Amino acid sequence: MKDVYTLADLESWPQATANEVPPVKLAVLGDPVAHSASPPMHNAALAHCGIAARYARLHIRAEELGAALRAAARQGFIGVNCTIPHKAAALGLMDRVDEHARRIGVVNTVLFDGLELVGFNTDGPGLVRAIRADFGVDLRDLRVLVLGAGGGAGRAIAMQCGIEQCQRLVLVNRTPEKAQALAAELAPFFRAPKVSGPGERLSAIQWDETHLRAEMEHTDLVINCTSVGMKRTDSSPLASSLLQPHLMVYDTIYTAARTKLMQAADEAGARSSNGFSMLLHQGALSFEIWFDRQAPLEVMRAALVAHAEKLPPV
Ligand code: NAP
Repeated sequence: MKDVYTLADLESWPQATANEVPPVKLAVLGDPVAHSASPPMHNAALAHCGIAARYARLHIRAEELGAALRAAARQGFIGVNCTIPHKAAALGLMDRVDEHARRIGVVNTVLFDGLELVGFNTDGPGLVRAIRADFGVDLRDLRVLVLGAGGGAGRAIAMQCGIEQCQRLVLVNRTPEKAQALAAELAPFFRAPKVSGPGERLSAIQWDETHLRAEMEHTDLVINCTSVGMKRTDSSPLASSLLQPHLMVYDTIYTAARTKLMQAADEAGARSSNGFSMLLHQGALSFEIWFDRQAPLEVMRAALVAHAEKLPPV
């Protein structure tokens, strides 16, 4: 199996994958996608369950997404995951959308029902399980700051915070208008007063030192949903001087065992975790959608750990 396939491969899939046994019937669609740890995780689960299918990476550009989804359906795929930057666009390309994904407004999991595209979102529920697993707390009990609230993951996580009615939610994004628009959408979830203390239960703030510093004291959990940190040359999206020892810092990025943000958290004395746990739990939920059976979580975890051991430390 190739490391990464393209739309041209997908359009002539029987030829492009002529020698592949079991056949490749699942994939992650993204740009970039070469970093994705989903194939080792899902291939371990498929092999463990004796399912005659494999999972690949498809490098699909934004303008190719519709064609790629239709081609995958035509080629007899079981389903796909959509990752950066396709999650928001995927919603509008579905024939049917599950209620939770519609509420969240982002699709990361597609099930092919014949030629019909059915959309789901497992990122939000995956994050809830990840926070419980990594920090031993429930999202609904926390004051959360979402950095990168303008992207697909940030939107899914912020909406999940709304659905969970977390104690407080602060949205931050490089393009502030997106965070403001999302805050307006989320307002109905945060009408009731829930926590004592200063500040609104829901706000969108500017990404600058003054505003961030003011929020950190009233925050329990910082979640990085930006793509800053995916490249080795990236610096931390937040300086350690902005972080505080009481914080839990969750970096959704999993391309390094200790991301730059996690290192900044270490320097500040804060607890931190990377996106492996979210990847694991959203992947397990996707598997359950595709196969209507329980995912072999420990097998998937072991595959991710083995994959992580090959990653650079930063
Ligand atoms: P996306 O839709 O393309 O969103 C990218 C986000 O990053 C936007 O908020 C964008 O801000 C922000 N951003 C990009 N470059 C930036 C920069 N130089 N400075 C500040 N902000 C910047 O991508 P996505 O699908 O949401 O993915 C985002 C991240 O989440 C990725 O790192 C991905 O690996 C991670 N993720 C992890 C999991 C998991 O299971 N662990 C699942 C999903 C996603 P603007 O709105 O201003 O462009």
